[in-house]
Amino acid sequence: MEKQRTLGASVSCSGVGLHSGSRVTVTLRPAAADHGVQFCRTDLVGRQRLQAQAKNVGNTSFATTLVGKDYMIGTVEHLMAALHGHGIDNVTIDIDGDEVPIMDGSAAAFSYLIESAGIKEQQSPRRFIQILKPIVVIEGDKKAGLYPADGFALTYEIEYPHPAIQKQRFDIVLTPESFAAELAKARTFGFLSEVNFLRENGFANGGSLENAIVVGNYSVLNTGGLRYQDEFVRHKAMDAIGDLYLAGYPIMGRYHAVKSGHALNHKLLLAMLEDKKAWRLVEGRQTAMVAAEVAESMKKVGYRQAT
Ligand SMILES: [Zn+2]
Repeated sequence: MEKQRTLGASVSCSGVGLHSGSRVTVTLRPAAADHGVQFCRTDLVGRQRLQAQAKNVGNTSFATTLVGKDYMIGTVEHLMAALHGHGIDNVTIDIDGDEVPIMDGSAAAFSYLIESAGIKEQQSPRRFIQILKPIVVIEGDKKAGLYPADGFALTYEIEYPHPAIQKQRFDIVLTPESFAAELAKARTFGFLSEVNFLRENGFANGGSLENAIVVGNYSVLNTGGLRYQDEFVRHKAMDAIGDLYLAGYPIMGRYHAVKSGHALNHKLLLAMLEDKKAWRLVEGRQTAMVAAEVAESMKKVGYRQAT
């Protein structure tokens, strides 16, 4: 039976917030079974605590932001993706500011922190949200859906009318190994033509070539180029893995998105959680069987291995 997992030790990192530009420190601390993922604003009176759950999402413009009574915790998606990817069920995240640091624009730093802390298996069985019937949300040409499957698999498709991006598709069966190898290093991206608009509206104040892929009129402006040839779609897939973890439990199902983003991912989660016939909470399964079974079931639904 698969068991709940927490960290083996506390680990910290510091950096600037992508949108706020402010310096912040986050510390990931081990937590008891059934605690879930919880943020703690250590800079506020009373050390305000907030569960990382869809009901606490307050804003989805250019990032996923959790909102408490009179405070917020912005840009949680890359950290949530690393926790989801590595299968961490229980953790307290101390944060001394209002936005998770962007680090290098990817989930690599958080993935590294989790690997450094080590993983501690707990006594209680892991619980999953098992998808029982398709849930799909559509907005214009954007679409996001959850479908029944054993384990968690994802297909993401994007299309940008830009020569450096165009059409990209990425498929993955999520395991700690596939997350670390295929998704953790994919950086966020932005278009040079939009930088002024973003800054005038209070976004991307901490953004730079050090923490984002910047796309010029014809090509990528970062001197080192891309980390993966399809880094754009991989980043969107990583974002979705973070956003979906706000369901409160790992999802047992297949996620398929076309041109989705934080707002539509959130809408999908709310639609799923509201429809009590669409899912049920199930307890852990035989760990060793998961990856092989998922790969087999994905073949049946047309999954193809990423190249
Ligand atoms: Zn992102």
